[in-house]
Amino acid sequence: MNVLLTGGLGYIGSHTCVELLNAGHQAVIADNLSNSRVTVLDSIEKITGKRPKFYEIDVCDRDAVERVFSENEIDAVIHFAGLKAVGESCRIPLRYYRNNLDTTLTLLETMGKHGCTRLVFSSSATVYGPNNPVPYFEEMPANLATNPYGWTKAMIEQILRDHCAANPGFTAVLLRYFNPVGSHESGLIGDDPNGIPNNLMPYIARVAGGQLQLLTVFGDDYDTPDGTCLRDYLHVVDLAKGHLCALDYAAEHVGAEAINLGTGKPVSVLELLHAFIRVNGVDVPYVIGGRRDGDLPASYANAEKAERLLHWKAEKSVEDMCRDSWSFILNHTN
Ligand code: NAD
Ligand code: UDP
Repeated sequence: MNVLLTGGLGYIGSHTCVELLNAGHQAVIADNLSNSRVTVLDSIEKITGKRPKFYEIDVCDRDAVERVFSENEIDAVIHFAGLKAVGESCRIPLRYYRNNLDTTLTLLETMGKHGCTRLVFSSSATVYGPNNPVPYFEEMPANLATNPYGWTKAMIEQILRDHCAANPGFTAVLLRYFNPVGSHESGLIGDDPNGIPNNLMPYIARVAGGQLQLLTVFGDDYDTPDGTCLRDYLHVVDLAKGHLCALDYAAEHVGAEAINLGTGKPVSVLELLHAFIRVNGVDVPYVIGGRRDGDLPASYANAEKAERLLHWKAEKSVEDMCRDSWSFILNHTN
């Protein structure tokens, strides 16, 4: 299969590209490098022995996307390209709406012109919003986001459902990711955010590596077993493999289908932190601070639908996640 990966040089896209190439598929990457580096291509080649075809383009640019489709026979698309920082989306919402919606619309229109009918979309657990009880099931209402980033995901899901309803041969798999962490075991690719990370695992890893001084645990007075928030951390290699299963599913089904990709196992902030310290034998100085605005006490998946429809199940442990996050930092600081 020849698969177009928009945003394929980013964190999740690069890991998915590795799994695709290792499974014998071809990959074409379209990325504007707004949150990634072109050197990721070298790392993908080092890991797999193959170099994907790369277009440095903005996926909002119709002519550029048209060129990708006319120069390549694309069987399916995985749409990772998007802006993803929640806080930034509150400060510059229009940029988020423009980028995330426009990339999707441009892709869908161009796919339509070229008879490409299979799309896997990077959605997020954030679409479950603040009112659903955990664990989250796909059938729950998922249309009450709490920030512009989350709204772009909820809106794109709706666009894809409408598009599938109007085009009976089209398939859209809406993968609702929980909390991807870790990196490829080589440590060559990983979560490499610009500036100071917002997410817990890259923050812990950078404190351990000495690039940041101190971790602040945002609140220990939640109604959870140790008072800190619960999340469903998922190894990025497991997540990447889920995309291959979604492509297989899309080859045999039509319509829009939302599917959670998570482990289904809640882990607290302090559990993750102490696992990282224990597994890697490092020091991570931390303080308990106040709650972070907008944080939910708990967010984790019911992961049964992915097992039933995609025959996919997360396999890696919290220890694997901590070890591999650290090896990426070690590789990078050296
Ligand atoms: P990332 O920022 O590492 O990767 C996104 C890639 O898309 C980057 O390489 C960026 O340069 C590219 N990009 C952005 N806008 C583009 C455009 N207009 N044209 C071309 N390229 C563009 O993010 P990630 O963590 O790999 O996330 C991938 C997708 O998964 C995103 O859509 C994100 O919203 C979604 N997601 C991520 C998480 C997470 O925790 N990482 C959780 C849920 C959903
Ligand atoms: N968190 C924290 N300190 C940090 C970053 C995150 O205590 O520096 C907590 C955060 O409050 C949340 C959990 O770690 O409870 C996961 O946060 P992340 O931003 O990684 O994921 P999200 O909250 O978006 O699911």
